[in-house]
Amino acid sequence: MAKTKVKKTPIVILIILLIILLIGLLIGFIGLSIKVVDKKDVYEVGLNHKDIEEASIKCTFFGKEVNSIKKDKEIDTSKKGDQEITYTCSKLLFNKSVKVKYTVLDKDAPKIELKGKKIKVITVGSKYTEEGYTATDDADGELTSKVKVDSSKVKYNQVGNYKITYTVTDANGNTGEVVRQIKVRTANGYYGGCGEENTVYLTFDDGPNNTTTIQILDILKKYGVKATFFVTSTNGGDDSVIKRAYDEGHKIAVHTASHDYAKIYKSTAAFWDDFNKISSRIEKITGEKPTLMRFPGGASNTVSRHYSSGIMKKLTIEAEEKGLSYFDWNRDSTDAEIATDTSDKVYDQVTLDLNEATGNVILMHDIKKTTAGALERIIQYAQENEFKFDVLNENVICHHRAVN
Ligand code: ZN
Repeated sequence: MAKTKVKKTPIVILIILLIILLIGLLIGFIGLSIKVVDKKDVYEVGLNHKDIEEASIKCTFFGKEVNSIKKDKEIDTSKKGDQEITYTCSKLLFNKSVKVKYTVLDKDAPKIELKGKKIKVITVGSKYTEEGYTATDDADGELTSKVKVDSSKVKYNQVGNYKITYTVTDANGNTGEVVRQIKVRTANGYYGGCGEENTVYLTFDDGPNNTTTIQILDILKKYGVKATFFVTSTNGGDDSVIKRAYDEGHKIAVHTASHDYAKIYKSTAAFWDDFNKISSRIEKITGEKPTLMRFPGGASNTVSRHYSSGIMKKLTIEAEEKGLSYFDWNRDSTDAEIATDTSDKVYDQVTLDLNEATGNVILMHDIKKTTAGALERIIQYAQENEFKFDVLNENVICHHRAVN
């Protein structure tokens, strides 16, 4: 009996150890968990590797996070279709895997790049010579030869603003489109030159006030655009509005304090009296003496002669002798006209007139709600068409109109 007992004991112990081991393995296996917690599974073909937001995989061993997750391959965004990636988590003797399906699609339209200018000014009667383009698609690659060019709407014999449309469609039916603007103008200078070509000088007269001027400053700030303000004291704007405009990089210039034609154009002395009131107010607020000005009604206004004949000739000479630069405008938003009673009309007027071949000094009024309502779209339009923005300064040369 004793002999048998001695023989059986190691086998029993072995079996018990084996059972313990199996239970241990089972518990260990149950204790390891891997799951997909955040699934980002659709990508655009051609997406850069650094821009891929992969699925987030979480692995735990008895509730404790395990960081050693391996995957069998990288996501391949070079071609369309589905692909599967296996993520594996390992701890001690245990492994667990999860598969994630990724889909690569082509939803992006091909891109067309125009060679040459996007806005082209040509003379009536002459034709636009195509300067070329290229088209590429993230899935299909080079598509230049598939571009369709439609110039059927351009009337080369009629002054106006026209468009040439370029379109191209990729194998997945995504269509890209760009437009080249063709501005047909008369030969003898449809627009007067002023400042740097391809530049927009936003100029705001008659403010500030405490409402629309502030809205305008907010929009200019949002787009990083600087403008020139020809300031008066007639619309109730606080010093703080002028201070803010100055601090945010806008040019503060003089437009007279009263803007009262009968008062300012009575005599040159009366004009400079009124001028000095607002000039010294600006200097007190900003610490800088203004050197730019705009005459109410412009230097070529025909109103002043009713109060004092020949006064504009005298004032323009005196202004220059005082070291002041006076500015008119070569684009009129017409926002002061009764007919221009909506923001859409202000927008249409300004964008119709913008010319990339010259500088564009645009007359606007920051006291107008219509102008405040149109400004954001005007800036967007100008930026899309690659105009630069600048403030007026002494070095901006404008052809002055004839002084009355
Ligand atoms: Zn004015």
